[in-house]
Amino acid sequence: MASGESQRRCPWCVEVLRAEARVCPHCARWQGPIAACVYHLLYRPFAACAFVLCIVGFQFWIISLALQPLASLPAVVLGTSEAAVEGMDVAAAEMTPGEMEGEPVLAIVGRLRNNGEDARRIVALEAQFTDADGRLIDVRRLRSWYTWSVTVPPHGEAAFRLVVSPELPAERYASQQVFVRATAPPNPFL
Ligand SMILES: [Zn+2]
Repeated sequence: MASGESQRRCPWCVEVLRAEARVCPHCARWQGPIAACVYHLLYRPFAACAFVLCIVGFQFWIISLALQPLASLPAVVLGTSEAAVEGMDVAAAEMTPGEMEGEPVLAIVGRLRNNGEDARRIVALEAQFTDADGRLIDVRRLRSWYTWSVTVPPHGEAAFRLVVSPELPAERYASQQVFVRATAPPNPFL
């Protein structure tokens, strides 16, 4: 090695090498801060575990943020109280029997009306089905998590569609009525 060239020691094998070397000629390890980080993770199981836990914890934190509006829902979602959500009406809803992949389904399409001053996200809708004699024969509550979410603007309307697999013979479902059971503020993550 020519004199005057700056030198340093490899942090792994402690042999002397040129200061600008990217790979140690003695132990073949990459030099530099990113490589040092990777070697620390590889050779120190504790650090690797801490790194994985940080990633997992971060994901749980993100999920908990997304679930916050659901956590603050009124008790009506889980209770049996049938109090209507104030300021939110089902303006129109029609049911059409159909088929999906060979199985009978009931498709309900309709409009939701928000009479309030704030935009509301629909969290739970309930469909009550009656037979030709007007008897209640089935009730379905549909909650939106991530896959299905309708936000109704203030003093506005939004269309919705529910698809229900009937557990009784489909021809017994003569009519339906849809109720809004729970709403939440618009979710900034959706
Ligand atoms: Zn080395």
